[in-house]
Formats: sequence, C-alpha cells, structure tokens
Amino acid sequence: MTAQPTTPDTAPDPRARVSFWLEDAGDDLSPRPPLDGSIDVNVAILGAGFTGLWTALELLKREPSLRVAVVEREIAGFGASGRNGAWCSGELNIGMDLLAERHGTEAAKAVRRAMHDTVDEVARAAADEGIDAGFRKGGTLLVARGPAEMPALRATAEEYERFGFGDHCRVLDRDELNRRLRVDGAAGALHLPDCAALHPGRLVRGLARAVERRGGTIFEQTPVTSFSAATRTTPVAGTRTAPGAATRTTPVAATRTAPVAGPAGGGRAVLRTPTGDVRAETVVLAGEAYLAELPQLHRQLLPIYSLIVLTEPLTDEQWAAIGWSGHECVSSFRLTIDYLSRTPDGRVLFGGRGAPYHFGSRIDPRFDRDETTHAMLRRMLVRWFPALRGIRFTHAWGGPLGMPRDWMPSFSFDPGAGIASARGYTGHGVATSNLAGRTLADLITGRRTALTELPFVNHRSRDWEPEPLRWMGARFVQLSLMRLDRLAERRGRAPTGRSLAERLARH
Ligand SMILES: Cc1cc2nc3c(=O)[nH]c(=O)nc-3n(C[C@H](O)[C@H](O)[C@H](O)COP(=O)(O)OP(=O)(O)OC[C@H]3O[C@@H](n4cnc5c(N)ncnc54)[C@H](O)[C@@H]3O)c2cc1C
Repeated sequence: MTAQPTTPDTAPDPRARVSFWLEDAGDDLSPRPPLDGSIDVNVAILGAGFTGLWTALELLKREPSLRVAVVEREIAGFGASGRNGAWCSGELNIGMDLLAERHGTEAAKAVRRAMHDTVDEVARAAADEGIDAGFRKGGTLLVARGPAEMPALRATAEEYERFGFGDHCRVLDRDELNRRLRVDGAAGALHLPDCAALHPGRLVRGLARAVERRGGTIFEQTPVTSFSAATRTTPVAGTRTAPGAATRTTPVAATRTAPVAGPAGGGRAVLRTPTGDVRAETVVLAGEAYLAELPQLHRQLLPIYSLIVLTEPLTDEQWAAIGWSGHECVSSFRLTIDYLSRTPDGRVLFGGRGAPYHFGSRIDPRFDRDETTHAMLRRMLVRWFPALRGIRFTHAWGGPLGMPRDWMPSFSFDPGAGIASARGYTGHGVATSNLAGRTLADLITGRRTALTELPFVNHRSRDWEPEPLRWMGARFVQLSLMRLDRLAERRGRAPTGRSLAERLARH
C-alpha cells in the first residue's frame, strides 16, 4: 500500500471535511442563519440529522400549517447522518429472539416488517421530494469469512426461518457468493434483500431543503444548551409525565389552528440556546449520540465511534476482479462490526467499530480520526480483496453513534411534558430514523396507527453505569471482542458465545 492521506483535507470548504458524503453532496454547505431572539412555534426540534428532518417533514405533510423549527448546532448533516456507511437497512442491531423475549413474538415480527417496509419508504419519500439519493436496492451480503464464521451464518438463517421470514434470507454457498463478490477466504454468505445503498449526504441535505420548501425553518450554528418540559396545569388521569411537569394530553394537531403563544409562552416546552429560546407545544430531541451531552440524558446513550476509510474510484479491471455488480451492502460475522458499501461514483467504503470509547462519554471532533483504527481498516480492506492491493485511499473519517444500554431504539412522546425523542439506533439509524420520524409525527399529531403500536414507542432503556464503571465495562467489551475475533480467525473456530464479553454484548 502507498502512503495514504488520512483526511479529506483538500476539500475547499472546511465543512466538507467532515466526510466524503458532505464533500460530494453537491450542495452549498454555507450555514443557514442562526436563531436571533426567542420564538414560539408548534414543534421545536433539536438536531438536523435524519431523525430531526424526517420528523419535521412528516409533521408538515400531516399538518402543513404547523410551525416547525429545527435547531442545529453545526449544519444539517453534520452528525452521523452525514457520515455513515450508506446502508439503508431493514435490519436492526437487536436480534429477533431478544425482541420476542422482551415484547412477544408478534411484536418482534411487526418490528421486522415495519423495518423492511421502511427501506422502500425511504426511496419513495425521497423521490417524492425530488431528492436523488443514489438509492440502489441490492440487499445485504453477510459474508462468512472462513469456517469460524459459519456457525453465526447458520444461526442467523435459522432465526429468519423460525420467525417466518425465510423468504427474506437466502444462503449462498461459496460458488454462488463468488459469482456476486470475490472475498478472500470466504466460506459462504447470506443474502438479505431488504437493504439499499444510498448517498447519505445527498439525502440529508435534500431533506433539509424539503423541510424548508414545506414551510419549516432550520436554524444552523445554534447550539441547544438545555431543554425543559412544559409546565401545564391541566392534569388528566392516565397520562405519563416527565418529572416535575404537570400533565397535558392535547396533541399538537388539536391546537394547530390556535395562534402560537406570545412572548411569555407560559407553560411551554423550551429549547434554550445562547441567542434565544425556542418555545413550543412539543420539543423533539433528535440528537442521537450527542444527546449524551445533555445532563438529563447523559447516561441514556453511549457515544461509540465508528470509523470509515474510502478508496479512490476503482477501475473497470478492479471491479471485474472483485465482482460486486449487485451493489449489495456487505459485512462479515465478526464480533467487532465491519461494513462495506459501494459509492455511487465507484469507490469502496470500508467501516468498522474498534475505536476506543472515551471516558465520560466524551464527544470531540478529534475523535473522528484515529490513525491506528483507520490504518487497520485499510489493511482489512486489502485482506478482503487482495486484488485491490496498492489501491489509493482518499478519505478517512468517523463519528459517534448512540447506543442505549439495551440496544433497543426508542421513539417517545410525553404529551404532558411536551417532550418527544427518537434515539438509540446503535448504528442502524439510516432507515430507522425514517420510521422514527413517521412514528413521532403520528404521536405528536394525535394519530393512532400501526406505527404507534410498535414496541419502540415510549420504550426507555435503563441508564448506563456511572463512570468509571462505564469506561471499564465498555473498554473491556471492546478489547475482548477484538481479541476473540483474532483468536477465532487464527484457530478457525467460532467464539463460544459464553465468554463474559459476549454475554455482556448480547443483543
Ligand atoms: C461512522 C458511522 C457509520 C454508520 N453507518 C451506518 C449505516 O451504514 N447504516 C445505518 O443504518 N446507520 C449507520 N450509522 C448510524 C446512523 O448514521 C445514525 O443512526 C443516524 O444517522 C442518526 O441520525 P440522527 O438524526 O438521529 O442523528 P445525527 O445524524 O447524529 O444528527 C444529530 C444532529 O444533532 C445536532 N446536535 C447535537 N447536539 C446538539 C445541540 N446541543 N444543539 C443543536 N444541535 C445539536 C448534531 O450536530 C447533528 O447534526 C452510522 C453512524 C456512524 C457514526
């Protein structure tokens, strides 16, 4: 391999250096004006990533007269939504067995069906808004990279069968896999059709413009420093309240024609920023990993860094050598996650976890790049595809994803407090955030739908442990899983599943 640049530092606009996706979004990244003085709206949303923007869009589709404001610390797409591995996947990072154990078999199946439908819904909704997000539905290829990964492949296929989704999972032997994709040492693969590769930068930037076209306002470079719940005084039996908040059951839809409260804004939920308050009937917290920076939610999510390297565009000969004409999203069965995708302009993206968790759940732009992990990812890519030895890597970046203690996403709405939130996608938020946006929009506008019955709704994970326990536990699991992967590769035998780290990371 030749010496590689580690950042897209050549991008003329520093905002584009966050990721290849923002650099290649084809959009002017100049920030929109910040909030300038306090305002009153119907719905105030923290965060202009997929969650905040899908929620805003879906609210405005349901109720075009709503006043919706999105408050973003940087620019739309600055977070994970503008940095991810491009998998718009119908799979969650939580197993069906565990879902069924916690919520019942029917609920688990409803989740899987909703997630599968969401992949097509993302394509449909983006097309409706005129967004060309390079959507290619080639499915997922889960590759067993040697005999040690075959037990996990078989267990996954069995799980699909057991829950009645056998037609959403096909086992490929080595030859069939080779006809699709030539991975060194692969023993077989699963093909799951419910996944598309897309261009997250174009999607997130396009969604921001779509929200504005429908009348929403986005304030950029406006950090939310705190939030507070509504303090209405009309208690109604049976509603859940946030601590310290009186109850209120009127969903926003019922109040949409009423004028938005005046400057005093008594009893409203509030997003506070250095340049003014945004008072609203409903505040939506859509900051994913970054929500851990707010004291009230500090222990709800563990910010885990996922890092990515990207090659130059491959030549026709290189594509011919590795195959991959189906544009599948690709991963192995390692315990330490890896993920690959093809970009619309013909590069290979290789991402993985493995960068260290930072004490105190710290998030810092310096952590977006970790040369040890990035170098490892470059080496891994060439091990997957020896035909790409010598390829030039042009970009390296990363970002934090949000992990709840029980790996289960939550879409919540407390009408009494006027607080909604969707979070905890554990690295599977590209599709899930669309489902979250539609669900929150239904909840906030008082609609009861199949989505509002899903077990994500008002789910609350227990908190992560306080430090230093959190750091000790996270680092122990991260390092142990990496060691187990190395051992499994060397010995050609699967990890037993009984080690403490595997049990702690069970999901
Ligand atoms: C490297 C990487 C690879 C990934 N790969 C995939 C993948 O291939 N497929 C998949 O499904 N998922 C993937 N994910 C996860 C996925 O990208 C996220 O789950 C999803 O984008 C979350 O969207 P979001 O809008 O909830 O959060 P974000 O996109 O993180 O948006 C949150 C926004 O809130 C803003 N914000 C935060 N705090 C404040 C504040 N106090 N005030 C104002 N604004 C604030 C941030 O600036 C940010 O723009 C990946 C994540 C990472 C980091």
